[in-house]
Amino acid sequence: MSHLNESLIKDFRDFKASISDSIKHKDSALESFKLQIAALESSKTKLLADLTLMTDKFQRADIRLKRAFGEIIALKGRIEKIKTTSFQRMQVKLCTRCHKEYNEKENYNWSCRTHQSTYGGTMWWCCGRRNKDDPGCKYAKHQITENEEETAIMMVGGGY
Ligand SMILES: [Zn+2]
Ligand SMILES: [Zn+2]
Repeated sequence: MSHLNESLIKDFRDFKASISDSIKHKDSALESFKLQIAALESSKTKLLADLTLMTDKFQRADIRLKRAFGEIIALKGRIEKIKTTSFQRMQVKLCTRCHKEYNEKENYNWSCRTHQSTYGGTMWWCCGRRNKDDPGCKYAKHQITENEEETAIMMVGGGY
């Protein structure tokens, strides 16, 4: 009976020792697992920071690109406007004498017609023409006086 008791106690001790080992093993496995998770968390944080930085860089590059495109479009617009304006400057002017638009290429000695005197209500005193709208009796080339040239061109060209 005593022998059996001793044997049982020994078995029990062995069993306790094995459980204690298992628990220690489990604890160390858990510790290592926790460490691995912490490492993963840290690399995740770093990756997220990198991603934010890259997104930020990308957005700034995108903004710069859009601004550059905008400048190109504005520049194209300005070039078009200069082209149009210089075309109009070449083609059409406004005569400061008869106040009619004219083309320099078709400006002859008889193109500009004005009256030399005033309209008296029933006729022009210079040539006797009856209507106020009758073409003038004085023939000349259309002209623009020097200091009025810019104003006249701006009126025709719409200003810039
Ligand atoms: Zn007249
Ligand atoms: Zn004229």
